[in-house]
Order: sequence, then C-alpha cells, then structure tokens
Amino acid sequence: MVPGARLIVLGKQGAGKGTQCVRLSRHYVIPHVATGDMLRAAVKKGTPVGREAQRYMDAGELVPDEVLMKLVGDRLDQDDTKERGFVLDGFPRTVRQADLLDELLEPDGVDVVLNLVVATQIVLRRLASRRVCVDCGANYSTTARPRIDWICDICGGEVVQREDDTEAAIKRRLDLYEKQTAPLIARYRKAGTLVAVRGDGPADAVTDRLVRAVDERRQPRAGART
Ligand code: AMP
Repeated sequence: MVPGARLIVLGKQGAGKGTQCVRLSRHYVIPHVATGDMLRAAVKKGTPVGREAQRYMDAGELVPDEVLMKLVGDRLDQDDTKERGFVLDGFPRTVRQADLLDELLEPDGVDVVLNLVVATQIVLRRLASRRVCVDCGANYSTTARPRIDWICDICGGEVVQREDDTEAAIKRRLDLYEKQTAPLIARYRKAGTLVAVRGDGPADAVTDRLVRAVDERRQPRAGART
C-alpha cells in the first residue's frame, strides 16, 4: 500500500460517508477532513464561524460558501494535508464549492472522487437510528450502542442524537442533496475522476470496495515510494 492520496467521498446523508472516511483515512494515513465535524466543533466553541454557521445547520440548510471556503482553505493549507493528502467528507456539496476547491488545489487536483451509493430507504432508516459522540464525532446507532450507557467508547463523551437528525431536518437535507449535490456527480463524471461504489452491506465489504476503487485509479504521490 502506498500512503498518501487526495480523495473526495460523495453520498447522501446516512450513506456511511463518516464511517468509511475514517477507515480510508487510517488505510492511506491521510487526514480526515469532515466539514460537518469542523463546523460542529466551531459551534461548540462559540467561534465567529460557529455563530454564523449554527442557524443554517439547525435548519438543515447549507452554510454559506464563504464560511466553508475559509474553513477548508485553512485546513488544506496545513503541512499534513499538503504532504500526505486528505479524504474530504461532506465537501464539496455544491458545484460552486467544487469549482472553488479546484482553484485551491491547482495544479494537482484530486486523485479519485468516490460516490457511495445507497438507496434512500436504507439511508432514512440509518439516520433515524444514528447517534453520535458530541466530543469526537464517533458514530453509533440504536442497534450499535456504546459499551456503557450512552458514553463514547473512544473518548468518554456523551453520545446523543444530532439536532439535525429530526425527521423534518433529514427530509430537508435529502432534498437539498438531490438539488445541489447530485449535479456534482455529473461534473466529476465528466472530468473522469468519479467512481461509483456500492455502499450497502457490511462496513468491511464497503471499505474493501472503496480501497480497490482508489488503488485502481490513484497516481502514487510525488516522492512516495512504490
Ligand atoms: P454533515 O455532518 O456533513 O451532515 O453536515 C452537517 C451540517 O453542516 C450540514 O447540514 C450543513 O448545514 C453544514 N455543512 C457541512 N458541510 C457543508 C458544506 N460543504 N457546505 C455547506 N454546509 C455544510
């Protein structure tokens, strides 16, 4: 396995992006850059970005591009992402964000855009039962609970239902996904970087499919030993 990769993972809310991105991040030894987690951390800390973002997030709306670009731009400008790459989770969400990301990454761009495909019915069921750690963002569900009460196995934080995992907010986010994020798939398909991967079945099987898709497409990073 050659470490380092520049990956984007697309997929509806509840498609398993978070879980699979953590696994890809470990496999390729690359930072997991999850805009939802970064925004939730900013809200929790009460930073200016957090205060600006909160009302959009609570309503299940997209946070304005300027806020996102600052957040992502700063993160991708750090040494670890510059040297080893990244797996982007939850970003880009719109064609405009994808255009701005291309500018930010010039001249290299990304290696592979993975589209994690899961039926809406399955996604709705997963989102209704999803629970997350308020501190580290680890994912659980009503059927895969932490070992002790609702205390995170990893960091001891409180495990709760996300405020935007209510039925109304879920519906709003899935509608938004169709309208704004689905055109991204067409964009990356046209660019030749998109690979569709089935996201159903056991998590290990999905990870294997993703890794295979990445390894078939990826160019070894400059300076990396093969
Ligand atoms: P997520 O955890 O990816 O579902 O993101 C939670 C919320 O954060 C979304 O519903 C949006 O309000 C906001 N958010 C995360 N990523 C983005 C993005 N790329 N563009 C705009 N808003 C975002």
